[in-house]
Amino acid sequence: MTDTDTDAETGEEFMTSVYYDEDADEADIADRTVAVIGYGSQGHAHAQNLSDSGVDVIVGLREGSSSRAAAEADGLRVETPDEAAAEADVVSMLVPDTVQPAVFDALNDGLEPGDTLQFAHGFNIHYNQIRPPEDVDVTMVAPKSPGHLVRRNYEAGEGTPGLVAVYQDETGEAFDEALAYARAIGCTRAGVIETTFREETETDLFGEQAVLCGGVTELIKAGYETLVEAGYSPEMAYFECLNEMKLIVDLMYEGGLAEMWDSVSDTAEYGGLTRGRVVVDEHARENMRDILAEVQEGTFAREWIQENQANRPSYGQLYEAERTHDIERVGGRLRSLFAWADEEDAETEGESESESENERVRADD
Ligand code: NAD
Ligand code: MG
Repeated sequence: MTDTDTDAETGEEFMTSVYYDEDADEADIADRTVAVIGYGSQGHAHAQNLSDSGVDVIVGLREGSSSRAAAEADGLRVETPDEAAAEADVVSMLVPDTVQPAVFDALNDGLEPGDTLQFAHGFNIHYNQIRPPEDVDVTMVAPKSPGHLVRRNYEAGEGTPGLVAVYQDETGEAFDEALAYARAIGCTRAGVIETTFREETETDLFGEQAVLCGGVTELIKAGYETLVEAGYSPEMAYFECLNEMKLIVDLMYEGGLAEMWDSVSDTAEYGGLTRGRVVVDEHARENMRDILAEVQEGTFAREWIQENQANRPSYGQLYEAERTHDIERVGGRLRSLFAWADEEDAETEGESESESENERVRADD
């Protein structure tokens, strides 16, 4: 449905439009050649799904790239990024965000007037790290999921929800083409929401910092440390604060907060409803607003770009500290002792195995 959608139960109108297969026309991508630059998480999924949907695909990889063999083994044509871009009408930038500006510069004007420069995340456009020529379309098709699920869902005949956005519409066809691309990788089977580069970038950064990756790990560690400092066993603290997190999140994922509250005991519900807001209090919300402001003002983006230019000195230290935290040692030992972890490992290792619940709820990038 391309107009505002209506909630079947409440009759309430959703603010955003949701697009499905019938809203996208395959013809809008069918006659175009797509250069997929990079063959990592998103790259391998986009390239294979596009190709299976009948779109002409060239994978763009450096001469010595270890991904070359994989792309060729998957039956795809591989060229260098500049060769692929020169031949293609649509250039899909699917190398890591931090290397995209350099890779873009090395495309050496492979973008001709009327071509499309396409992204799966808005960072480099929104923060002006890539300045595209004015005579090309600039679009985004961003699956809200890791790439291996984009591929796995497609092969299973299912879809992956996604976002589409247009930053620059030189041809007047940018949106239709992006929607057709979204269809060809399977996103419109599940539903695609229209957004802007700014909204996608700012909400994505805020979410992963304050709630998903940053917020949730600090909440887990703070709870764990509080129990251990008070003399409780690290094993108990691990189960309580980390392991059970998944069970609670799965319920929210399936049926919203209500399904979670309905599934836990009344004691847990009353305790949670009265004490949760003591932890995430007005001060925590104030901190969240500050984090959002840093994202909006570009302060975070500048910090991250400089960190990369300096070869990631802080990132290296933080990475090391996180991996040597006590909860990791305790968790590693416990997971090796209990049978459930083996089953999940087996599931997550093979990409063609059945989908792990863990991955399904994982942050998108
Ligand atoms: P990735 O880290 O999986 O990509 C690795 C690929 O990039 C490999 O093919 C590698 O050969 C190539 N590469 C790495 N360094 C390179 C360099 N210096 N020069 C040239 N090529 C290089 O990337 P990803 O996670 O798929 O991210 C690609 C884009 O998709 C990003 O914009 C990201 O924000 C977005 N995105 C990712 C996810 C996700 O779940 N991973 C989800 C949504 C959007
Ligand atoms: Mg994200």
